[in-house]
Amino acid sequence: MKQRYVDNAATTRVSDRVFNAMVPFLKETYGNASSIHAAGRAAALAVMEARRQVAQALNADPQEIFFTSGGTESDNWAIKGVCARLLKKGKKHIITTAFEHHAVLHSCETLEKSGFEVTYLPVSPDGYVTAQQVADAIREDTALVTVMYANNEIGTIQPIAEIGRICREKGVLFHTDAVQAIGNVKIDVNADCIDLLSLSGHKLHAPKGIGALYIRKGIVLQNLMDGGAQERGRRGGTENVPGIVGLGQAISDAAAQIEEKAERLSKMRDRLIDTVLAEIPKARLNGGRKPRLCMNANFSFEGIEGEGLLLKLDMAGVCASSGSACTSGSLDPSHVLTAIGLPHEIAHGSLRITLSEENTEDDIDYILEVLPGIVAQLRMMSPVWQE
Ligand code: PLP
Repeated sequence: MKQRYVDNAATTRVSDRVFNAMVPFLKETYGNASSIHAAGRAAALAVMEARRQVAQALNADPQEIFFTSGGTESDNWAIKGVCARLLKKGKKHIITTAFEHHAVLHSCETLEKSGFEVTYLPVSPDGYVTAQQVADAIREDTALVTVMYANNEIGTIQPIAEIGRICREKGVLFHTDAVQAIGNVKIDVNADCIDLLSLSGHKLHAPKGIGALYIRKGIVLQNLMDGGAQERGRRGGTENVPGIVGLGQAISDAAAQIEEKAERLSKMRDRLIDTVLAEIPKARLNGGRKPRLCMNANFSFEGIEGEGLLLKLDMAGVCASSGSACTSGSLDPSHVLTAIGLPHEIAHGSLRITLSEENTEDDIDYILEVLPGIVAQLRMMSPVWQE
């Protein structure tokens, strides 16, 4: 049976171009980028080129890009690094939203235990926060505002440029977790007034375990990873040269085709959403339709439990997910769906379908062919479903 992979918000396949770019740095050019001999210098040159590629995709300066192990590390570093510094200036307040990724929420919770106060902005029923909410929450002692660029479960894109402008006006640092947006949305850290930005390679066809943090020139954070002098003394640890090269290649490939991808995937996404809502009774789309990531559709089906739906889809060859992969082992309902006001019984039963440029109209046809039957079958077995 052909496998249809539609869980690209969880992770993506490494593309052939990325793989081919990385291979030499696993085999012939395996030098340590900090070594002074020829093999080391060749690795260092490749790291420099990747830093340029990442910077170019964000309209940043290469000196503002720091490679990390992924989105989780970048979020932890941005939040804890800023707060450790600003606490010395008496700033001990953070503003975030109720539906951030756990890398942000749990970093904030850790800081709460050491005396920080955190404002968790509520999210509207269609999955957005407003710049006005941020403006109203800013205080004299606010150290950092951290709002995700796009939500990983429901794909809603937040008003980042407006929030950035408010933070800039009020003199508060602004971090955004752009892990889901990168490669799907054109990002300009200058136009959007972003001070710190987290990204991760494995969401855009680079391998797992590589990411970056953009840190605007002049911002000093406490280090998260103490060690050697790598990354200009700000992030110790031997550089993951193949991963860094892969991230550089992936981000420049993504930037080159971002408009074409958005156009093609949003048509596929809209056909999926329109047909599911028209053909399956009591189906709902979670998250507003606009602005929304071109690759994200997230549904709830009344009377259905998400786990059963995923298993049946898996048996039919469809790899989808119910909310985020990071919480899939948990029995708790999705904090994102409860943040947009869904009752627990519905928040348990969501289906997230996330596309990449590798998906085709044929994948959508197939999902639309099997999904209504699976939903009907599960409802027949459900003790809570009534026609
Ligand atoms: N932030 C968001 C919005 C994500 O979707 C993810 C991964 O799912 C992360 C952070 C964590 O990134 P990583 O898996 O690279 O640690």
